[in-house]
Amino acid sequence: MKFFFPDAHDHVDPEFDFETEATSADRQLQHSDHYAHELLGRAPYDGLLLSKSIVDGVTGKSAKFTTAQRHRLRRLGAHQFFRVSQLRNPEGGPFPIMADCGAFSYIQEEAPPITIDDAIEFYQTCGFTHGQSIDHIIADFRPYWDEHGLFGDGVPEGVRYRYDLTLRLAEEFITACRDRIVSFVPVGVAQGWSPRSYVAAVQRLYQLGYRYIALGGLVPLKTTQLLEVVRAVMTSVKPDVKIHLLGVIRWEHLDELVRLGVASFDSTSPLRQAFLDSKSNYYTGTEGGPAYAAIRVPQSDGNLQLMRRISSGQLVSEKVRELERRCLDLLRAYGRDKSDAGLQELLDALDAYVRLIDPKKSWRAKHERTLRDRPWERCGCSVCKDVGIEVVMFRGANRNRRRGFHNLFVSYERVTSAVQQSLSKSEVS
Ligand SMILES: [Zn+2]
Repeated sequence: MKFFFPDAHDHVDPEFDFETEATSADRQLQHSDHYAHELLGRAPYDGLLLSKSIVDGVTGKSAKFTTAQRHRLRRLGAHQFFRVSQLRNPEGGPFPIMADCGAFSYIQEEAPPITIDDAIEFYQTCGFTHGQSIDHIIADFRPYWDEHGLFGDGVPEGVRYRYDLTLRLAEEFITACRDRIVSFVPVGVAQGWSPRSYVAAVQRLYQLGYRYIALGGLVPLKTTQLLEVVRAVMTSVKPDVKIHLLGVIRWEHLDELVRLGVASFDSTSPLRQAFLDSKSNYYTGTEGGPAYAAIRVPQSDGNLQLMRRISSGQLVSEKVRELERRCLDLLRAYGRDKSDAGLQELLDALDAYVRLIDPKKSWRAKHERTLRDRPWERCGCSVCKDVGIEVVMFRGANRNRRRGFHNLFVSYERVTSAVQQSLSKSEVS
């Protein structure tokens, strides 16, 4: 099973100075920054995924790429843009970069605001290895709609419309790809509201000629529902079909998904959990070891609550900064010291600082667990080796994103080890 990482401009300044928190003087965003595969010295994924909506924007949603970056991507091609030209897939071919249209960004629209021509122009010009058909997300999961037959009266008209539209666009897409002899592998996207409807969509895409099929709309599903769909699809597909899970993985069911024969998935969760999760910010263990909470030391000059309390006179700016500085100094001393001697003093300082922001909140127990266990000292990734305790500090994009890269490293090890184990089991039996 291959892991694709969807890029959304996730790069860091390799020269960032943690002590002074200054970015490098000649920093050029994206250009001089490093992606995870550069900072870690090897790719913590089997491929990248890029959405057209992120690059070009779609109705009402602005692009994440600047005009200059958009032009550069098209001019250089995706492999040079992401600086993965020297990386190879296991067969020696180019590093996989899949592209899609970003169906989630236009989920509210009546129909996808992207034409087949737009999609093919984008995929072809940027030199992607795989390009997905244009789909329209079905946000409901209601197997009981099939009670009166798969396409019976139970299925609401709007849902059936999205289902048929997705398949019609897939047909037009693969026909156009054949006519124009494109260089990427067309990937057909299936939508559905139940295991049966997904199975039927996958069968239809197979008839159309697709041999790589992505299951879309799975993100909001409960784990049991997702597994029902994947099991139903995997037991019904022909052996020459590869199945991709769009935007979703369930780490606790990794072994089963590998065993079922899922070919690939993409997920941003390792990166995003580093700064969006309330407690699982730092991953450990290829076997799915415990995750740790990052140590909250928000930047005082960028924190809205703190700035509000300072300007209303409740807090004195110098005092806030002094406490912030003390937290950072004690954290670094704790990182250098190999004993827990300074732990209570450090926890007290962190408590005092975090309470300035939210007097009711306490992170003490979570902070203590992370600091006492020192997980960053046991990690072999180059982020943890290079920056030490800074990686567990919840503070600014340069640390938070590095922690995300570390999570990608751990997640990728998890995937490769699950695949290895499954292979060795099948050799034994
Ligand atoms: Zn690490």
